Amino acid sequence: PAPDAVLVVNNIEVIYDHVILVLKGVSLSVPQGGIVALLGANGAGKTTTLKAISNLLHAERGEVTKGSVVFEGQRIDKLSPNQVVRRGCIQVLEGRHCFGHLTIEENLLTGAFTRRDGNAAIKADLEAIYDYFPRLRQRRHSMSGYTSGGEQQMCAIGRAMMSRPTMILLDEPSMGLAPQVVEEIFEIVQKLNVTQGVSFLLAEQNTNMALKYATYGYILETGRVVMDGPAVGLRENEDVKEFYLGVA
Ligand code: ATP
Repeated sequence: PAPDAVLVVNNIEVIYDHVILVLKGVSLSVPQGGIVALLGANGAGKTTTLKAISNLLHAERGEVTKGSVVFEGQRIDKLSPNQVVRRGCIQVLEGRHCFGHLTIEENLLTGAFTRRDGNAAIKADLEAIYDYFPRLRQRRHSMSGYTSGGEQQMCAIGRAMMSRPTMILLDEPSMGLAPQVVEEIFEIVQKLNVTQGVSFLLAEQNTNMALKYATYGYILETGRVVMDGPAVGLRENEDVKEFYLGVA
C-alpha cells in the first residue's frame, strides 16, 4: 500500500455460516483523499468486503477469519460497527435504507448520532449538506418514503456526511437509477471528495460510471482481486472492456 493510504485491507478472508468461504484473501488500499472503485459482477464479494471493513458482518453470520483492516494507521477489525463510525469510517448500505416514515431532514439528523458537539454545529452541517444536495433542501420536509430513488440515495449519503466522516464506503449508489441521476450523484460525491477531503471506496457494478470518477480500481471475481490499476488504464484494458464495459 501507498504510504499515504487512509485505508488498508490486508489479505482478508470472510466466511459465512462457518463454512461458506466468500472472500479468499482480498487486499486493497485507498489513498488519503482518493476515490477508489471496487468492481465486479453480482455476487463477486463487493458488499462483503465493505461490511468486513465496517464490521457489519456479524448480523449476517459472517466472520473475518484472516487478515487485517487498518484505518488511519490503526487496526479497526476488532472494533464494533459503532466505534468504526466514531473513528470516521462510515458505510452507506446498498439499497439506501432511509427511514421511509421520517422526513428527509429527520433522516439526515439520525446521521449525527455519534456526535457530541451540540445542536449549533449539527444545524450548520445540515445547511452545508443542503448546499451540496439542493434537491434535499427542497424536499427536507417530505417523508423519504415518498421521494425518488435518487433523492433517497442522496439522503443516505447526506446522512453519512452528518457523522463527519473522513471515509465513506459507498455500496452501489447507481442501483436502479437513471444514468442522468447517477451522474448527478457522482458529481456530488466528487465535490465532497475535493472540497471536504472525504475518501471514498465505491462498490459498483456500473464499471463505466465508476471508472469515470475513481482514480484507481480493483476488480473482484468470486472473492479474489483479479486485476487492479489506475482507472484510466482499466478503462482502456481489453479484458475490462469485454467483460465489464460490454464494448468488446
Ligand atoms: P451484490 O452486487 O449482489 O451486492 P457483491 O459483489 O456485493 O454482489 P456479496 O453480496 O458480497 O457480493 O456476496 C458475495 C457472495 O457471498 C455471494 O455468493 C453471496 O451469495 C454470498 N453471501 C452474501 N451474504 C451471505 C450470507 N449472509 N450468508 C451466506 N452467503 C452469503
